[in-house]
Amino acid sequence: MRLVFLGPPGAGKGTQAVRFAQERKLPHVSTGDMLRAAAAAGSPAGKLAKPIMESGGLVGDGIVLACVEERLDGDAKVGFILDGYPRNVSQAQDLERVLAKRGMALDGVVNFDLAIASIVPRMAGRRSCPSDGAVYHVTGNPPKVAGKCDKCGAALVQRADDKEEVVRERMRTYAEKTAPLIKHYGDKGLLITVDADGGVDKVYGRLVDALAARSGKGAR
Ligand code: ADP
Ligand code: AMP
Repeated sequence: MRLVFLGPPGAGKGTQAVRFAQERKLPHVSTGDMLRAAAAAGSPAGKLAKPIMESGGLVGDGIVLACVEERLDGDAKVGFILDGYPRNVSQAQDLERVLAKRGMALDGVVNFDLAIASIVPRMAGRRSCPSDGAVYHVTGNPPKVAGKCDKCGAALVQRADDKEEVVRERMRTYAEKTAPLIKHYGDKGLLITVDADGGVDKVYGRLVDALAARSGKGAR
């Protein structure tokens, strides 16, 4: 299965992708996670990406394409959930080209649909584990012990780009550059819309049902 998870920042793409990837044994390819790891490691690409990520803009298409191609030739040969890529029409064209080169194509693009009024509190309450990348929410998806990662016990942190002024810029970037992908993939007949409002389990149920309906297998 080759899927793209699309949607505004904070819609819950990563949360759903981690669970779906685990259940279906699919690689979860998050360009945001890869860029954060590169920035933390101080690699040349990471050094270029860090200030752009911290200001809420989009990292250069070439840098993210290199991240994606590395995975397509590695663990993602068997299939993938692409989370946070593509993020503009030119990246969508890059993706189509690099998939075709490998004899691959997308099976679907899931658009997590969420109103802006629900997005802002999700990003404001997001807490991440600096050690293993696990994502929580202070109220919507809390860890078992407040402030500590369930898996490794590390102290959770707020992402630098989840601060209010950066969130506003990320929303602008999304509206201008990423939202046009809804029409792009709709025109290609690949779009699967999932209502992302409601709790994590509810949204997951909708995701599974929508994918089953698309593949003609009926309900769960
Ligand atoms: P994205 O990957 O789209 O940026 P995340 O998966 O990181 O979004 O989710 C953003 C925040 O919202 C996180 O703090 C996450 O724990 C929380 N969250 C995700 N899905 C839900 C949900 N259905 N209900 C409540 N909170 C959620
Ligand atoms: P995310 O973890 O998906 O919220 O991404 C965090 C940040 O990483 C974004 O705000 C961008 O600065 C950068 N980023 C992630 N994916 C991409 C991409 N496909 N293209 C450009 N920048 C990206």
